[in-house]
Amino acid sequence: MPRQFFVGGNFKMNPNSVAEKRALTTLLNQADLDSSVEVVVAPPALYLLPLKELIRKEIQVAAQNCYFKESGAFTGEISPLQLKDAGIPYVILGHSERRTLFHETSEVVAQKTKAALAASLSVILCIGETLEQRETNQTTKVCSEQLQAAVDLLKEADWSKIVIAYEPVWAIGTGKVATSKQAQDTHADIRTFIASAVSPAVAQATRIIYGGSVNKGNCKELSTQPDVDGFLVGGASLKPEFVDIINATQ
Ligand code: PGA
Repeated sequence: MPRQFFVGGNFKMNPNSVAEKRALTTLLNQADLDSSVEVVVAPPALYLLPLKELIRKEIQVAAQNCYFKESGAFTGEISPLQLKDAGIPYVILGHSERRTLFHETSEVVAQKTKAALAASLSVILCIGETLEQRETNQTTKVCSEQLQAAVDLLKEADWSKIVIAYEPVWAIGTGKVATSKQAQDTHADIRTFIASAVSPAVAQATRIIYGGSVNKGNCKELSTQPDVDGFLVGGASLKPEFVDIINATQ
């Protein structure tokens, strides 16, 4: 079965005002979007519920993070059960900004993934290497290790609710996009890893999306790569060109 193309918009800690968020929502609500693409937008937690109300029903809403405990004294955190209860279907986990700035290890990301899946959320699981790691030929090793932590905690059936986002750290927010060949080669390596660590069936079915300076100028070529099943978009998801990225395969 072909994998459904997936485009996620990671708004990060943007936009800065309710008015800007409304404008973005109106843009997406009025746009002509490819209905065969699964589209998910991830605003800051504060805006999850209002955005869910305002945005067209075909677009799903994702949290940018959650904790792995069910409830309790964890100031500042949101639990997977709370997201589920609020009707939020997706959560982004393991984004490189969380790994780097908030010191989340692959083990913590794996625990969060397990907890999110247990609460029936779907997960966009982010992995990716730094520039130094790429330049020393460690890309496959780093991506495999980041995934292995999740493999260790999850069952085979869990993977049907995971989208893997390959986001090279050196490409995030830098304007320096991976070439189509770099993206395709790494995605193919990730699929090979999943085939051996989980199963060939899971490898075949799992969406592996690319993130890192995706824009309307580079999305079409990237989307033609056989193992690129969509995008996770940061900066460009706040602009009208997000619509062009959603429609990249048309
Ligand atoms: P970018 O961010 O598109 O701004 O590079 C991608 C991401 O961090 O998901």
